[in-house]
Amino acid sequence: MAGLGARSVLVTGANRGIGLELVRQLLSKPDSPQWLFACSREPDGERGQELRNLVSKHPNLVIVKLDATSPTSIKDAAVCVENHLKGSGLNLLINNAGVFKDVALDAVDVEDMISGYKINVIGPLLVSQAFLPLLRRAAQGSSQKGLSCNRAAIINISSTLGSIELVPPSYMNPAVPYRCSKAALNMLTQCQSVEFKDFGILCTIVHPGWVKTEMGGQEADLTVDESVRGILDVLSKLSDEHNGAFISWKGNKMPW
Ligand code: NDP
Repeated sequence: MAGLGARSVLVTGANRGIGLELVRQLLSKPDSPQWLFACSREPDGERGQELRNLVSKHPNLVIVKLDATSPTSIKDAAVCVENHLKGSGLNLLINNAGVFKDVALDAVDVEDMISGYKINVIGPLLVSQAFLPLLRRAAQGSSQKGLSCNRAAIINISSTLGSIELVPPSYMNPAVPYRCSKAALNMLTQCQSVEFKDFGILCTIVHPGWVKTEMGGQEADLTVDESVRGILDVLSKLSDEHNGAFISWKGNKMPW
């Protein structure tokens, strides 16, 4: 984790689960980011309480309203972040917000498919689009030459359930809308990695492990603390060779 020195970081879905723990651990680092933008779709509601408690102790933390299903909300969030950065770029964007529904082929309906796709794929697409100018500014303003999270990066949080090769061993949870949306997110990241490489922006897919959160459930393998420690360690080591890669919270390559 010592190597992750991004000066500005934005995390979506930061009011609970993996997103909230990313914020907590980034704040506790000795070289905490100068600006840490924690996004929540309802910052003033009950679910935003933990973030509001953190803001009172950390002046570098800014809560930003962002609903991943609303293009207007995403654009407003980008304007808010740009105003805070005062001419600097955004180094690291973590598209973490997501939804899971474990529904099988015989029961899945149009709404299940559309809502999974809207939040898990179109959300990261639109968020990356809106923040692209700030990411490009960070890459251009950096003295570093190669790709890294300290310079400029988009990290899309995917899942082992988005791996097409791993469907047979993981099909105890059919989760059809989730699997399809995360497979599409993986494709989106590959496209971003090709297009944004020349801007100096690294694009990588990270699987956080099976984590004890509202989504993962209490029978999951990992505590949120373990998963996020692993993720932040991995992020600190990413370079050109990881552009477009699908990797786990331990840094291992995931099967496509
Ligand atoms: P949680 O369900 O605990 O948290 C999900 C987060 O996403 C919440 O902050 C939630 O906000 C936010 N969110 C949901 N919908 C929207 C929306 N429309 N706009 C903005 N934010 C939204 O999930 P985890 O922390 O476990 O998961 C985080 C990421 O990790 C997800 O992308 C997930 O797919 C992935 N993942 C998780 C695994 C696990 O085992 N936990 C395994 C593999 C991948 P709100 O409180 O407002 O609903």
